[in-house]
Formats: sequence, C-alpha cells, structure tokens
Amino acid sequence: MNGYARGQPIVGNLSCGYDSRFVLGLAAPLRKRILKRYSAGYRLFYGACALLVLGAGVSFGLGQSRGPDPVRLDGPVGPKLIVLVFFDQMRGDFLSRWQDAFVKNGFRRLMEQGAWFRNCHYPYAATVTAAGHASVSTGCTPSVHGIVGNEWYDREARTRVGCVASGRWDRVPAFNKTGSADRKHEPQASPERLLTDTFADALREASGGQSRVISLSLTGRAATLPAGKRPDACYWFDTADGRFVTSSYYRDAPHSWVAEYNGSRRADNWFSVRWERFRPELDYGRYSGPDDVPGEGTGYKQGRTFPHPMDAGEQEPGPHYYGVLCNSPYGNEMLLELADRAITAEGLGQGPGSDFLSISFSANDYIGHCWGPDSQEAFDVTLRSDEIMRRLLDTLDLRIGTQRYIVAVTADHGVCPLPEVARSQGKDSGRVDLNRLKGRAEAFLKETLGAPAPGHRWLEAQAEDWLYLDIATIQKQRLTDKEVQDVLDG
Ligand SMILES: [Zn+2]
Repeated sequence: MNGYARGQPIVGNLSCGYDSRFVLGLAAPLRKRILKRYSAGYRLFYGACALLVLGAGVSFGLGQSRGPDPVRLDGPVGPKLIVLVFFDQMRGDFLSRWQDAFVKNGFRRLMEQGAWFRNCHYPYAATVTAAGHASVSTGCTPSVHGIVGNEWYDREARTRVGCVASGRWDRVPAFNKTGSADRKHEPQASPERLLTDTFADALREASGGQSRVISLSLTGRAATLPAGKRPDACYWFDTADGRFVTSSYYRDAPHSWVAEYNGSRRADNWFSVRWERFRPELDYGRYSGPDDVPGEGTGYKQGRTFPHPMDAGEQEPGPHYYGVLCNSPYGNEMLLELADRAITAEGLGQGPGSDFLSISFSANDYIGHCWGPDSQEAFDVTLRSDEIMRRLLDTLDLRIGTQRYIVAVTADHGVCPLPEVARSQGKDSGRVDLNRLKGRAEAFLKETLGAPAPGHRWLEAQAEDWLYLDIATIQKQRLTDKEVQDVLDG
C-alpha cells in the first residue's frame, strides 16, 4: 500500500464552517431522531468523528479555537445541505503549519469562523483510508462498523477481501471495447461489509426519505463508505478508462450529469500540461523542505522534482495517465467539477429535507505517499486544497445560501515522515519489509512453540500490515490463545 513506517501517531483534524449548535437547536426534532439512531449502542468517541461532533454540539472542550460569532441559522428548518469534505491524508498540523500561506476564504474561513478541533485522534490502530472514512461516517470504531482495513483476511472464506469489493456487482457503466474483457468480472464496490448505518442513512431515515445523499471521490472506498446503504448517487473514478463510475448495487445506469461529464472527456484535459508550483512566488523550501530528497518516489514517470509531466510517457490518455491524474492535484480539481455538477443537476439544498453531500479528495493521499508529507508536492497540493475549499464555499454560498448549509472538513488519517527524512533529522527510523517480518515471525513461533505438524504453518495469511495466526495449528498444538499471546507479548 505504501512505503511508510508503521505505527505513526495520527492527528485527525476537523473544522466546521458553522456552529452546529444553532443548526441543531433549530432542527431539534430531526436532531433527536438522528442522534438516537446514530449513537444507539455505540461507544461515542471524541473528535475523530466530524459529524458526531456536529451532532453532539461543540461543548466538549476539545481544544477548539473560537473565532468570531458563528453564523446563525434562523427559521423553522434545519440546514438545507450538509457537506462532509475529506482531504485524504491531510494531517491535522498542516492547517496550522501552513496557514499563513492560505487565502482568506478557504481553510481560513473555516478556521476563523467555524469550530476548529485541533486535538482529534482516531482511537484505533489501523488508521487507513477505509477505516477512517467508515469511522467518521458511522461514529463508531472499526471493531463495531467492521471496516478494519482497506483489505483484510477473511478466515471463513480463506482469502483476502477488499473493504468494499464484491463479486456480486458489475461496473456501471459497463466496460466496453477491447482490453476490458478480463476486467468485466472484477469486484465492484458496495457497502455490504459495512456493519452499521452511517450518518447519511440515519439522516434519510429521520427525514422519511426526503433527504438526498450523494457521495463522490476518486476512489471506490472513499465514495462508498460515507454514502451508506442507500445513497441516491455514489461515484468514483476508474483509472482503467478515465470515467466516473458506480456499481450495479446502486443503479443500472449512470445519472445523466455523470454520463455527460464522462462524455465530455474532461479527464483528458490535463494530459498535455505539467504540474507546476501553484504559488511560484512563495519560497516552497521554507514552508516544506528541499524539492529533491532521498526516499521520494517518482509516480508514473512523474519524476522527483517540479515540474512534473502528466502524460506518463504515453502518446494519448490511458490508464497510466489516469493514474498520474490521481497522483496530482488535478484529480481533485476534476472531482470538484463533478461535485459542482451534482449540486446543480440534483438541486441539492433545494428539496424538502436536509440533503447530504460527501466529497473525498484523494489526490492528497496519493501525493503524500509518493513524495512524502514534508515535500514541496505535499505543500503544493495543500495550497491547492485551500483553493478548492474557497471555490466550494463560494459555490455553496451562491447556490445554497450562506446561512443554509453546514460544512465539515476532516482527514481520514495522517501520515508519518518519510523514514529517510526522519533519519536525516537524527531519528531512529527505517522501512519495514513485511515479507521479511513475516518470515521472521514464522521462524520465531517455530523456535518458541515448536514445529507445527507437517503441512501446517503458524501463520495463515498476511493482509496489509497484519499477520494472521493459523487457528488450526494452535489447536493442533493444544495451545490456548492466551499462551500464544503471552509468547508474542514476551
Ligand atoms: Zn486515506
């Protein structure tokens, strides 16, 4: 999944454009029903869940800063539109670290006029994309909502499974033409492994189905998990052919505004450009670090330093170019265009209920994995994310009305420095070879607990960062789980 050292401390962040107390005070009946549904039986955790904090008010003393008086929503109705924005891997400290480079009406508008929770943490070990999106969207931890990783090992099925991948559903629109035959039966996304309802599900139920739910992202998991079980629209970007797609779990044909967007081939728009610094007048080295440091990746023939070519060395747009698009800030810009179309075409915020729109910008994560969080590329995409927020807020002001919507911004997880960068700063740091780790763990267990029966091993599988003990071997050796655990702890 990535080349980063594990076990990093994660700092989530959350900002609210408007003080939810007023919204919720005015939408009291709806709030009560949502909270009842949303929190029943869950161990509510603090901070990490953007929408939960919105729902519960902001009186927990979480270290948020309080700016000028928040905008009040007056009138008998609640917000017309609730917008949840993820910037994937945008670590909490980026906002304060780089705030003096932000424009006035982007992140700073949220930081100064909203509630800014600076000390939020995800209270679980595997802070990966799917777990983060599911936790924010459901208000509970992976042990409850079931999304324990981007993928994991299913002991019953004896295979690795993706968090939203399902062989039961087809891509919509279907693959066409040559080269796609073998992809026709690839698993497609659905929320079937998500064990609990999401905020969006509760909102729909509480409004008697009047609230509409739309979720968009570059990746399937980041679109699917916030959307919940019954969204009106759920789309993500397929790098195979550069289209926004959904699956037959949701519907049999794309919405016309998605089909039109795909038909316009906007995804091909950035093929001939180069990714240059967004604010060349700024001293990027002062804000982040040198442009070229050991440990940085090169993406799809994108190189380690600015400017980054976008064409992936291809003659025309193809899967590698669409991969480059996601591994550049332009993927986020494309997604914003689609979100803009969704707001207009679906008339979000104009219906009888409170509508819900989730937008998860994934390019920050791709870029952070490739060049590292202290890179000029990470700084650049954060500046461009600030600009995206400015444009999004402008759009919402215009289409919905300044006092008629709520925006919550968060990240699904943070990131640790490149090990090479940390080492250059004198820290004890390195990369873990998971295959080597697995081999050493098997050898250690064999040495400590004895050789398993012929044909058996102590470790049954590996998925993401996790090693799975073979339960059958443990039983065959007449050991208890506790005895094995003690050995591993020791
Ligand atoms: Zn992520």
